[in-house]
Amino acid sequence: ARIVGNGYVDGQPFDACPRQVLHRAVARLAERGWQLRTGIEPEFFLLKRGAAGQWLPADDADRLDKPSYDLKSLPRQMGFLHELQQTLTACGMDVLQLDHEDAHGQYEVNFAYGDALLSADRVMLFKLAAHALAEARGMVFSMMPKPLANQPGSGLHFHVSLWRGERCLFDPSDGDTALSPISELGRQFVAGVLAHAPALCALAAPTVNSYKRLTVGESLSGTTWAPAYVAHGPNNRTALVRTLPGRFEWRLPDASANPYLA
Ligand code: GLU
Ligand code: MG
Repeated sequence: ARIVGNGYVDGQPFDACPRQVLHRAVARLAERGWQLRTGIEPEFFLLKRGAAGQWLPADDADRLDKPSYDLKSLPRQMGFLHELQQTLTACGMDVLQLDHEDAHGQYEVNFAYGDALLSADRVMLFKLAAHALAEARGMVFSMMPKPLANQPGSGLHFHVSLWRGERCLFDPSDGDTALSPISELGRQFVAGVLAHAPALCALAAPTVNSYKRLTVGESLSGTTWAPAYVAHGPNNRTALVRTLPGRFEWRLPDASANPYLA
């Protein structure tokens, strides 16, 4: 069981409570008839300490040159991943997929999108559950943006859509252009996210370690997949925004951000 609370002081909503901040932002959108929905994608590491105190993948056999979507390593952590999936499902979350990411010991779990507040609540629950279940198996769960200097880091990408009963960012007539079919409103939304990218880093990638993730270049697997350019495109993982039919993926955030503020 868990209880998610809103901060109050003397019976008044507490200004600095991140959940109240998101309540206020959602209310401002509602004045225009809009609902914001997000699908938040946690990437994370399962680690252990080596004899010399260094951090290593919890799974010794996880060492492919290019480990992205490594199907052979996945079953070795299936005990943890399956237990995590069952736990989240029991808490009402719809777990859609589990995969191995592009660093040794790195994984991603995806669950269904929902209203912005609900998605932020779910990410917090995900972190608590994953920490506890990994610890019980003698592993360290980490969503640190860049735990290992020579490997890709972990993002917390937000898939963002705006609704007014139905999707507002979808424009089927745009389907033949180089962009994904995203409406004029969607392009304006993306333009704002790009224009404010430097300031948004303070909220969405707020730690020194965050900036170690936001680089292009070599890693053990050959790339970082990190959003290091203030740009948008339908498939380029180094761009800050990826456009998809009726939504966009904001790739800037990492898990050192407060998901309510992000
Ligand atoms: N791990 C990459 C990041 O730091 C993203 C990989 C992906 O595109 O899923 O954002
Ligand atoms: Mg990923």
